[in-house]
Amino acid sequence: MMLRIIVFMVLISFLIGCSQKESSIVMNENTPTPSRITVKDPTVTDMDVADPYEAEREALVKSGVIAYGVKDAAVIEAMRSVPRHEFVPEEYLAQAYANHPLPIGYGQTISQPYIVALMTEAAEVKPDNVVLEVGTGSGYQAAVLAEVVDHVYSMEIIGALVDRAVSTFERLGYSNITVKHGDGYFGWEEHAPFDAIIVTAAPDHVPQPLVQQLKIGGNLIIPVGPVGGVQTLWRINRVSETEIRTENLGQVRFVPLTREES
Ligand code: SAH
Repeated sequence: MMLRIIVFMVLISFLIGCSQKESSIVMNENTPTPSRITVKDPTVTDMDVADPYEAEREALVKSGVIAYGVKDAAVIEAMRSVPRHEFVPEEYLAQAYANHPLPIGYGQTISQPYIVALMTEAAEVKPDNVVLEVGTGSGYQAAVLAEVVDHVYSMEIIGALVDRAVSTFERLGYSNITVKHGDGYFGWEEHAPFDAIIVTAAPDHVPQPLVQQLKIGGNLIIPVGPVGGVQTLWRINRVSETEIRTENLGQVRFVPLTREES
């Protein structure tokens, strides 16, 4: 009898222990917190609730990234990991995984996923690299880069977009992205030289400060062309101190690189 009581008590305390463990969530500053409130549907599992967009994102990666010719495994994995829906305004959530750009306010756009993948692949970056991005915008391209390199420095000319991107990065736990408010035409001398530079707004000529801030062997990926028109996406490889090699990656359409801070 006594033995039965002891066994019973041990069982009860074990069950209490389990239920306490389940209900306690350890949070630290790197724990990504979901930004949007999800109403729990009893028919879906906890994993679905954590990322209800996973299936849509996977479909986009297959049909809009791999099928379009992107091959770099690290880039494909990054496109699978970055939650694009966290970077688009609430009213465009339903289109977060459509393969086209979307407005983000202030006359700017979040780039098309395929173009983000193409530019990241074209940069030919490695895990220990330090990269500069010009044109933070929503922060999506910076986040994709941050998945494949060691550190991303990103510059944005519109102050309100800087603030929004910084809070998005904090919310999602991207501690390897540093954003600065300023004109990216001049690059970010303090952290130069960079292994690669990606420009996501189009100037009408190649800014020489950016070429100067590239390491020898590094790539500058940049759309160049008329404001409001179609531009050419270039890969500019810095062959030596004085030499560059350019490669046409195709026609693209980006918002213009502006020169007035706001
Ligand atoms: N990479 C972004 C795309 C944003 S669109 C994303 O993934 O969402 C291009 C951005 O470049 C805009 O936010 C625009 O304000 C910014 N921009 C334009 N001219 C700039 C300049 N001279 N320096 C820094 N950012 C600039």
